[in-house]
Amino acid sequence: MVRSLEITAVLSGIEHAHRAGLFWDPTIELSLDCFICERLGRTTVLKYGAERAVCMSGRNEQHITAARIAAYDVTVQDDRLALRSVVDFWWAPFRDAERGGQATPLSRWARLSYGCRCPHKEESSAGSVQSNLPRPQRLYCRKCGTEIAVDAEAPAIRLLV
Ligand SMILES: [Zn+2]
Ligand SMILES: [Zn+2]
Repeated sequence: MVRSLEITAVLSGIEHAHRAGLFWDPTIELSLDCFICERLGRTTVLKYGAERAVCMSGRNEQHITAARIAAYDVTVQDDRLALRSVVDFWWAPFRDAERGGQATPLSRWARLSYGCRCPHKEESSAGSVQSNLPRPQRLYCRKCGTEIAVDAEAPAIRLLV
């Protein structure tokens, strides 16, 4: 059945000069239980606009899977850059083919990508925030070294249906 996860995240304290150049990059990596390869906690890579995703099922192995980013809404407010996204994916019950354990439609972690165009160097760099890392994390522009934002709140993942 089709299930949906809502993923929300916010970057705060965005440094003034980099404010216009900081953006969420619509790529999401999500831990999902994959009914195709029948493994729990596979890293699934989604790109907004793509009608399918990729399950990274281990050493140099990957396959396409039935998941997509259904919504990707960015809100800018003062020094905050917020994101609300919804991922739709096909979920079916199974038991992990190698380790046992019952599949669930929940996700253990999400990694969200951002990009930053440096106003001083006229070059872009990329980074990511991940839900299961200690916080707060300070984010730096990789081109000029300025602290550009704080990743203070872990991205939240919520099962909608
Ligand atoms: Zn898979
Ligand atoms: Zn910079």
